[in-house]
Amino acid sequence: MGVLHKLLSASLVMLSAWSADVPAQAWPTRPISLVVPFAAGGPTDVVARTLAASMSKTLGQTVIVENKVGAGGTIAAAFVAKAAPDGYTLFIHHNGMATSTALYRKLPYDALADFEYIGQAVDVPMTLLARKDFPANNLTELIAYVRANQDKINLANAGLGAVSQLCGLMFERALGVKFTAIPFQGTAPAMQALLGGQVDLLCDQTTQTIPQIKAGSVKFYGVTTRNRIKALPEAPTLAEQGLKDFEVLVWHGIYAPRGTPRPVLASLNAALRTALKDPDVTRRMAELGAEVVPESKQSPEGLQTWLKSEIDKWGPVIKAAGAFAD
Ligand code: ASP
Repeated sequence: MGVLHKLLSASLVMLSAWSADVPAQAWPTRPISLVVPFAAGGPTDVVARTLAASMSKTLGQTVIVENKVGAGGTIAAAFVAKAAPDGYTLFIHHNGMATSTALYRKLPYDALADFEYIGQAVDVPMTLLARKDFPANNLTELIAYVRANQDKINLANAGLGAVSQLCGLMFERALGVKFTAIPFQGTAPAMQALLGGQVDLLCDQTTQTIPQIKAGSVKFYGVTTRNRIKALPEAPTLAEQGLKDFEVLVWHGIYAPRGTPRPVLASLNAALRTALKDPDVTRRMAELGAEVVPESKQSPEGLQTWLKSEIDKWGPVIKAAGAFAD
């Protein structure tokens, strides 16, 4: 009886030690999906795929990019908000996570309450472009041309909530003009339309535009950052050419559905931080003009504080511009 009792309690100890380890061992046992709210091949997608490849190495499971397009990124956000909080669905989004809260009168999710925060990743400048045969060769000519011909000009964007839409809106307001907006499901198809000469103007991240600018396949008028960028050192900023205070920087956050277990979030944050130091990631990001954010922003708290401040910053601007959708 005594021996049996000892054996029994020894196996109970082993069993409880094993169950304590289960959460760590049991996740991830299958591929993880990283939802991108815009079309494959575009700027957000490029950032996502670069991070996913590195995070897959750390997590020992493939992080698969899943493009869920539409409504300026809000369809993907709604999908992730309702996904199972089991660590197998993640979400990457940019400034649109904040601006959509003001742009849409009704959203089927709460940007602040329905997600867990993993961390911020990279900041990306934007560039202002036109189709190759557009009549204006520099910003001065562009401003004169669009002021005289605004009703004939169209501007491609990735829908209400996209940074291309926000950048276009800021350009229109700076000049006091209005273009015809042509929404796409991401700026990858918008860029194809620009290259094909079907649309006139596009404001888009360097993560997609640098190769086209370098190849000379588009007209390029400047970068949207306060200072010139390393990846395009010759390129002037829009601000230095007279569009004072014209500044758009695209930031990226990684989220999970609300309720995702804490240990899983901690592992995801560690994998993100490892990716942001991975030379394959930093090299690729630097070539495309993207900058890894400081460590303080790579934390869940850093992302949460930033998102809140962006909602507070853009809400009044968007309301004043009167750009809404239901
Ligand atoms: N650049 C896009 C935007 O305007 C999104 C994308 O296709 O990555 O938000």
